[in-house]
Amino acid sequence: MNIKTNMRPILATISRSALQHNLTVVKKNAPNSKVMAVIKANGYGHGLLNVAHALKQADGFAVLGLNEAVALREAGFEQTILLLEGVFSAQELPIVSALSISIVVHNFLQVEMLENAQLTAPISIHLKLNTGMNRLGFTPEDFFLAQKRVAASENVAGITLMTHFATADEASGIATALQLFQQTTAPILREENYPVSLANSATILCHPEAHADWVRAGIMIYGSSPVAGVSASHYGLKPVMQLSSEIISVQNLKAGDSVGYGMLFTASKPTRIGIVACGYADGYPRHAGQYPAAAGVKAVPISVCGKVSRTLGRVSMDMLFCDLTDIPEADIGSPVQLWGDIVAADDVAEACGTISYELFCAVNARVPFKVVD
Ligand SMILES: *Cc1c(COP(=O)(O)O)cnc(C)c1O
Repeated sequence: MNIKTNMRPILATISRSALQHNLTVVKKNAPNSKVMAVIKANGYGHGLLNVAHALKQADGFAVLGLNEAVALREAGFEQTILLLEGVFSAQELPIVSALSISIVVHNFLQVEMLENAQLTAPISIHLKLNTGMNRLGFTPEDFFLAQKRVAASENVAGITLMTHFATADEASGIATALQLFQQTTAPILREENYPVSLANSATILCHPEAHADWVRAGIMIYGSSPVAGVSASHYGLKPVMQLSSEIISVQNLKAGDSVGYGMLFTASKPTRIGIVACGYADGYPRHAGQYPAAAGVKAVPISVCGKVSRTLGRVSMDMLFCDLTDIPEADIGSPVQLWGDIVAADDVAEACGTISYELFCAVNARVPFKVVD
C-alpha cells in the first residue's frame, strides 16, 4: 500500500451520464436557444474539467476567473467561454483577446479599460443591464450610452445583451424585470441584430418567454432544482454528485444518553446510532440538525444501507451521527449516502436552511473525487 493512500471512506462520485442527461433536459426546455453551461465555482464544486469534459455538447461555458477560462482553453475547449463578471483589471484583456474569451461588461470602468486596451484581436462582450437585482449591470438610463461606447470601440467584436433575474424562482416571477429589459433594449435591437441572454435555470424551467438566444444553465446541469418546494425529479433532472461514506463506529444509547459536542441530542429510549466519516471539514454543514427537538426544524435526511434515516446532534469536524434504530442490519462499514440519488441534496439543504448550490460548493478539497459514467 502506498503510504500516501488514504483509506478514509468518504468519496464524491460525479456521474458523467447524469450531466449529459441534464444538458438534454436544458435543450428540451429551451429548444431554440444556445446553451451556456455555467461551471463557475469549480463546476459548482463538481470539478471544472470533470464537468466540462462531460458537457462537450454545450455551446458555451460560463466561469468567473480568467484562470478557469484559460484552463478550459488549455484543455482544448473551443466553444464560447464567458467571464461572468468580466475583467477585474485591464491586465487581463490581452489574455482574454488572445484566447478568444468573451467577457461581461457591467460598468463604465470596464468600458474604459476596453476602449484603452492595445489588443491583437477584438473581444466579444455581453453588455449587462441591471433589471432589479442591483448587483451588476448598467442602469436603464446608462445602458444606451454604454452600448454606444462599446459599439464604437475597435476592441469590441460582437455584442450580446444580457441581464440576470432576481426572482425567477419566486412566485413574483420576472414580468417586471423582463419588461424593463425589453423596453430598455428595444431601441437598440431595432438598429442592431444583437443576441440576447437572460435565463438561469429557474428561468429556463419556469419562464419560456425569456429563453432568448442564449440560456445560462447552472444548478439544473448538476441535477438540483432551482425552485424551492419543487423536486429536481419533477423536472426530469438526475443528481450528478453522490457524497458517500461509511459508518465507522456504532454506539448503543440508553434512555437519557446524549451524543456529541454540547449533547444536543438526548435519547428518550434505547437508541442505536452510527458515526459517519463525514464532518464539517468535508463540507457538510455544521448547523445541520443541531436542534432536532425544536419546533419546525426538520430532521436532516441521510441514507444508511440504502434506507433513509436522519442525522442526530451536532456535526463534528470529521464525523456526524445518525439514527440506526430502524436499520438493524447497519454496522461498521455500512454504506452511507450524505446526498445523491437516495437522499436529494435539495432535501438535505432545505433541512439545513440553505440551498444545494451551497452544499456542492462547500465540498472540501480533502474529499476524493471519482468520475464515473
Ligand atoms: C450563476 C449564474 C447563472 C446560473 O444560475 P443557476 O441558478 O445556477 O442556473 C446564470 N447567470 C449568471 C449571471 C450567474 O451568475
